Amino acid sequence: MNADTLEHDMIYYFGEGPVDKELLGGKGANLGRMRSIGLPVPPGFTITTEICNHYTAHNDYPDGFTDAVAANMAKMEEELGKSFGSTGNPLLVSVRSGAAISMPGMMDSVLNIGLNDDSVEGLARQTENERFAWDSYRRLIQMFGDVVLGVEHARFEEALSEVKDSVGAKNDTDLKTGDLKDLVIRFKSIISDEGKTFPQDPWQQLRMSIDAVFMSWNNERAIRYREANDIPDDMGTAVNVQAMVFGNTGKNSGTGVGFTRNPATGENKLYGEYLLDAQGEDVVAGIRTPHPIEDLADQIPEAYEKLQDISDILEEEYRDMQDFEFTVQEGKLWMLQTRTGKRTADAAVKIAVDMADEGIIDRETAVMRIDPESLSQLLHKRIDPDAERTVIATGLNASPGAASGHIVFDPDEAERLVKEQDEKVILVRPETSPEDIHGLVSAEGIVTSRGGMTSHAAVVARGMGKPCITGCKDAAIDLSNQAVWFKDREYGTGDLITIDGATGEIMDGQVAMKDPQLSGEFESLLEWAEEFRTIGVRTNADTPEDAARARSFGAEGIGLCRTEHMFMAEDRMPIMQDMITAESLEERQEALDKLLPMQQNDFADIFKVMEGYPVIIRLLDPPLHEFLPAREDLLGEVVERSLEGRDLTRLGRMLKKVKNLEEANPMLGFRGCRLGIIHPEIFAMQVRAIIRAAATVKKETGNKVKPYIMIPLVSMEEELQHVEDMVRSVATEEISQVDVDLDYKIGTMIELPRACVIADRIARIADFFSFGTNDLTQTTFGFSRDDSEGKFFDGYKREGVMRKNPFQTLDRDGVGTLVKMAVDKARSTKEDMSLGICGEHGGDPASIEFVIGAGLDYVSCSPYRVPIARLAAAQAAIRQP
Ligand code: ADP
Ligand code: MG
Ligand code: MG
Repeated sequence: MNADTLEHDMIYYFGEGPVDKELLGGKGANLGRMRSIGLPVPPGFTITTEICNHYTAHNDYPDGFTDAVAANMAKMEEELGKSFGSTGNPLLVSVRSGAAISMPGMMDSVLNIGLNDDSVEGLARQTENERFAWDSYRRLIQMFGDVVLGVEHARFEEALSEVKDSVGAKNDTDLKTGDLKDLVIRFKSIISDEGKTFPQDPWQQLRMSIDAVFMSWNNERAIRYREANDIPDDMGTAVNVQAMVFGNTGKNSGTGVGFTRNPATGENKLYGEYLLDAQGEDVVAGIRTPHPIEDLADQIPEAYEKLQDISDILEEEYRDMQDFEFTVQEGKLWMLQTRTGKRTADAAVKIAVDMADEGIIDRETAVMRIDPESLSQLLHKRIDPDAERTVIATGLNASPGAASGHIVFDPDEAERLVKEQDEKVILVRPETSPEDIHGLVSAEGIVTSRGGMTSHAAVVARGMGKPCITGCKDAAIDLSNQAVWFKDREYGTGDLITIDGATGEIMDGQVAMKDPQLSGEFESLLEWAEEFRTIGVRTNADTPEDAARARSFGAEGIGLCRTEHMFMAEDRMPIMQDMITAESLEERQEALDKLLPMQQNDFADIFKVMEGYPVIIRLLDPPLHEFLPAREDLLGEVVERSLEGRDLTRLGRMLKKVKNLEEANPMLGFRGCRLGIIHPEIFAMQVRAIIRAAATVKKETGNKVKPYIMIPLVSMEEELQHVEDMVRSVATEEISQVDVDLDYKIGTMIELPRACVIADRIARIADFFSFGTNDLTQTTFGFSRDDSEGKFFDGYKREGVMRKNPFQTLDRDGVGTLVKMAVDKARSTKEDMSLGICGEHGGDPASIEFVIGAGLDYVSCSPYRVPIARLAAAQAAIRQP
């Protein structure tokens, strides 16, 4: 290939190229940009990523490349009045790699290129600093030997230690000129031992270093990193050749790294570290303990002042916090790198809000700058970053937050330990199911060895804001022996562990934590988000506590209140079971009469908390068998009781019913409105409880109360009509008895494809729709959510059949098209019909963006995701064309 086929010049001198990270890499583009705004950057040039691709393809450079390098070197020589390869006043350069995305695995930089046995003497004479010259030379041979010639790094380090020991030097800086000369000899012989030579010709040093950078683009480590991070192979790296500045000339020089603001807290104050009399990576390599940057104010005041000015200039130019490298040579400051600084979630929020207040960015930019998902870190307890810890296993980070507790394997035991002994427990199970709910409620956190990000444990834990780790393949659980092996360590009941649901890490013992603190900046950011948000944000909440928490996070109502969890409580379960196993209508009614006041209280408390905001209550949805013990457990108990000669009537009934309710496919089974049609007395009880509660709260508080009664799993308009008639007649009867004027609505959950297709007809009966996209995804794909993740999703991803889990991010093509169709059809019947989404997707930023486009009025998500949804909704609105 010929140079003519390149789209750009092969090389750009710093400050003369375009600001183009793809072409020049991040480092090169920013060095050029800093230089063009007048910051002190040593001159140099960038060889483009195009050349890297050419080199990769042809194992050679395009025609004219060598001349282009020479021309740019000459330009540098002229600018500095030095000459590359001269023995009198030698120009030294660094060769630095730099792709558009920073990438571990790429070649390390080589500094001090241009020195050889002659020019080292010249440099010593010219600077009158013999020690510095030899220190630079030994560094060059060491770096070149390691990075370009591939000699093991440790061999040079060993030699360095030997020399230090032999002269009693504690630090590298204690070495005298003679010691450094000795090192040069040793380093050279280490290299020749390997059958290699350190080249004396500076041009050869330069050429070999550039080759090494381009070759490193295709080394194992780099390729694997790109694979793991979805970075295209043809992105290529750039090479920067830059004139050296020296931090290793003595005590009036040094090198360091800094941030324009504190990257941990966001505090608007220069932050960083440096070392005097040092070069390159000495600061990060940890050979000496660096000083905090404030100390520079005393040690080299003029450099510190300059650094503060430059910090402001950088922020003005980049309009974001910067992470930079600098070197001070004899009191003069030089900038060697800048990039947007990584930061904690706390710092990100503070910096965005502060910068908007300071006028550096506007509020829209501040709102756009925060990753909504990262907010979850601020809402939960977390591991103290300074705490010591031993990680014993890792699983999926299914629900954020940190918790410590004693291991318990059994949900009953979890509940008992918490109630009776006030213990803190972590529930460890292969997986969880609805009948374990009391264990999940009691535990501080949950670990499952199976299941994925949308397994039962994950979904319930996120709803409750509890830390949860699922799919922990490092955990081998042996329930019969009440033991778990985390890799090769065995733990039993009562052993203390700490889990971090944000990272998926399980740690030994108790690890120090930090409480969540919602800062003023957090509040400001969410307030600003309101200026842009166009869609409502409600919450999925089943208890007054959850509802209150969601309100405090800004939820504007309840989009889904699941009534089944109200029956799972210890004092209610037996009554519920009596209701289910009742053999006559009277018996069933008796149990329902007991449940009614309980439900009524639950609803009343929730209405109070929601202060007039809409509350959507879904009538009983799950199949009844979920309220009964598992068949095996019942059989065990029968055996036990009969041995003890105790009464078996109740157990026998349950067994019979369990058998009776058994279904081949409960997900598609006897549940939702199907239950309500066959056993109307259950729904009727719930409707009475809702209306009575609403009436009471309205009387008591004078607030408006807005009950929305939602009928689940409708696929035929006849189903809805049937249940609606019943609900309306019960409601009318109740209202007539309470003497308050009460407005209520009846609607349905849209969670089956057929319901989407006939949404216009269903809309004639329903006052509102709420899209239940969990079930809609299951039934559209025919995937079972609880099974697919663990069984074949991993394989699907590996084979490239599926990129994203459709239970986490709404599948736009299939499920999304059904949602859009249903929205349009519903609106064609009732233009102003209230439409929302209450599946897990309601808290997922990408899904929120989609449903805004589809025309929904609100999203509803678990309380802890409310702030995330508010921010994500604002960002999506800003992005809408
Ligand atoms: P990395 O990408 O690993 O940060 P760099 O190319 O930034 O590698 O270089 C490594 C170290 O060498 C940094 O501390 C940098 O500041 C220093 N360095 C690079 N080029 C020069 C130079 N021309 N003069 C002085 N120090 C340099
Ligand atoms: Mg660097
Ligand atoms: Mg459902």
